[in-house]
Amino acid sequence: MDRFDTIVVGAGPAGCLAACRLAARGASVALVDGSHPREKPCGGGVTMRALDLVRQSVDLPAVPRVAIESATFEHRGRAARVALRPTAATPALAIVARRDFDGALLGAAVSAGARPLRSHVQDVRPDGSGWIVATRNGDIRGDWLLGADGPGSLVRRRVSRPFDRADLSIAAGCYVRGATSASIDIAFTDDPPGYLWAFPRPDHLAVGICAQADITTSGVLLAAARRWIAAHVEDRDAGITQYSWPIPSLGEAALRRERHAGPGWMLLGDAAGLVDPITREGIYYALQSAEAAARSLGAADPAARYTTELRATVIEELLRSARFKARFFRPAFMGLFVSALQRSGRIREVAADLISGQQTFRHLRRRLLATLEWGLMVELFALRQ
Ligand SMILES: Cc1cc2nc3c(=O)[nH]c(=O)nc-3n(C[C@H](O)[C@H](O)[C@H](O)COP(=O)(O)OP(=O)(O)OC[C@H]3O[C@@H](n4cnc5c(N)ncnc54)[C@H](O)[C@@H]3O)c2cc1C
Repeated sequence: MDRFDTIVVGAGPAGCLAACRLAARGASVALVDGSHPREKPCGGGVTMRALDLVRQSVDLPAVPRVAIESATFEHRGRAARVALRPTAATPALAIVARRDFDGALLGAAVSAGARPLRSHVQDVRPDGSGWIVATRNGDIRGDWLLGADGPGSLVRRRVSRPFDRADLSIAAGCYVRGATSASIDIAFTDDPPGYLWAFPRPDHLAVGICAQADITTSGVLLAAARRWIAAHVEDRDAGITQYSWPIPSLGEAALRRERHAGPGWMLLGDAAGLVDPITREGIYYALQSAEAAARSLGAADPAARYTTELRATVIEELLRSARFKARFFRPAFMGLFVSALQRSGRIREVAADLISGQQTFRHLRRRLLATLEWGLMVELFALRQ
């Protein structure tokens, strides 16, 4: 049986970057995932802060940066389209195909010395101080087990517990072949409370919509995405591919109760529930958790160090977002937000910066105070902080 210092299950952004960093330090690492090459259901919006974590070490494909120029807010049937950033430097997202982005990260991990095992993990079980990982191609053994296997994580189910339905959102979407656009569209809706995005890629438009899994279904969301496409996209004759997929979207209580590491194991990225519950940005947090995991595996007590580092960085920010979320998608807030967006250039700048990851929830209160939008402040911050 092959033996490794660390077995990483799942070669998405979290697993690939963790494997890359560990192998570069000389550890023997197995990276197990049979899915590549593949397109992961995703908008593929990569914020600049996420790109910053990988662009030094990963030979990324040329990714177009696309400006976030406008957003539509639908409130009680009334739609308001708002130009988000009339002045200053336009914030941008890099829009990637996950086949290319994750493929580049996988390539970097392999170049650094990680051993790719193109197989599916069927089971994991403790073995003395380490782990036996059963794959379709046989068993391997590792001292450490990193679960980076997405929202339905098998590793998570073995070392912890699956997500409650209330802690998941559903994203449903369409790849509209032959269509594209010069800018990103975001449309907030209040029925179901959530938002839709249209991200332009070189040969298609990725349109998706997400909302909490316990209040809607993928059928409802797909119908909403189809309606938006029919109303806004002209060149849709080349065909549409549909998908739906879960995204962790943890509330405050769930974030506090999460266990991210234990004896010989760590959970990373989506498997650890590390997605912003409002924006659903997950790639950045997956990469951050990978960096934290790799750093921690060099420490005296890796599980404790990982937990501490994650709590001080990622979890703190996600907790702030989870608190705002309780108010953000309420009709009362949406109504005020829409009218503030229409009148205030400063609010439009804050909204665009939130979507592009340049505005953290940590400093949101201070930034909003400067806009003098008191009604909005009361609606958003009246809850306990
Ligand atoms: C529709 C949609 C749109 C999104 N849009 C954005 C966006 O625009 N920007 C953003 O930042 N985030 C977005 N997200 C979230 C983002 O996709 C995730 O947060 C991110 O991919 C998490 O990375 P990860 O490495 O943790 O997991 P994943 O990317 O899910 O990778 C997990 C890997 O594990 C593998 N795996 C699973 N089970 C096993 C097994 N048993 N054995 C071996 N391998 C296994 C899978 O094949 C996969 O390759 C979106 C999510 C969805 C669903």
